[in-house]
Amino acid sequence: MKPKIAVFDFTCCEGCQLQILNCEQEMPDLVAALDIITFREVMTERSDHYDIAFIDGSCTTESEIARLKEIRQRAKMVIPIGACACLGGVNCFKNLHPMEDVLKAVYGQAAPYYDTIPARPIHAVIPIDFFIPGCPIVKEEFIRVVQEILAGKAPYLPNDPVCAECKMVGNVCVFDKGQTCLGPVTRGGCKATCVTGGAVCWGCRGLIDEPNINAEKEILEKAGLSIKDIVEEFSLFNACQEDVWK
Ligand code: SF4
Ligand code: SF4
Ligand code: SF4
Repeated sequence: MKPKIAVFDFTCCEGCQLQILNCEQEMPDLVAALDIITFREVMTERSDHYDIAFIDGSCTTESEIARLKEIRQRAKMVIPIGACACLGGVNCFKNLHPMEDVLKAVYGQAAPYYDTIPARPIHAVIPIDFFIPGCPIVKEEFIRVVQEILAGKAPYLPNDPVCAECKMVGNVCVFDKGQTCLGPVTRGGCKATCVTGGAVCWGCRGLIDEPNINAEKEILEKAGLSIKDIVEEFSLFNACQEDVWK
């Protein structure tokens, strides 16, 4: 029996689901190894009998809480994918404002017809079995995790900071160019793609386990950032985790 897979979307841009679809070369093998039975972005058929639920997006409404609890009851494994699902991601910006103001800003006069609650990552609502970080996820990492699960192994989650890969690919550190970066405390696995592309790391893969926050604070302060600037920089993807800087 092939494991039955479901992919669900919550509050998000659905870019992480698109990354699954971008696994074009691997798709024939994936489909041979798995039964994809629910995936709204690509198919109309659906079923409630799944083994593994991948969840894209964060939880931002009361109705999403009930939906998540139902998925948890049905699935043997629940795996959030992407920064929105794993960290709350960019959706957590709204938590910095009163919810009534957020509703009015988005829906105007129609605000009373909608509900919203502070955004949360999936693990803050239901227990999860693993997670695949990133904004968006790295498709090769998604394939590797699926292969490890199919082989009955515990999936591997990188815990080196982005800096390790950044050095390996030969980038000049952006601090040496007068910019700032969250690479020293951010979970690697993306090959420092943003720095390689000429930008900086904004922390989309979340914090490594046991990050040295004091050392990162020190280098950011030396680069001229105040604590307020640092929290703002970190909040792009991690507003739900910003307490770590206090
Ligand atoms: S993590 Fe990024 S790419 Fe994935 S759904 Fe959220 S905003 Fe989109
Ligand atoms: S550019 Fe960023 S990720 Fe690369 S070494 Fe410097 S701090 Fe680390
Ligand atoms: S460099 Fe940083 S922001 Fe860019 S993909 Fe990697 S973890 Fe995300």
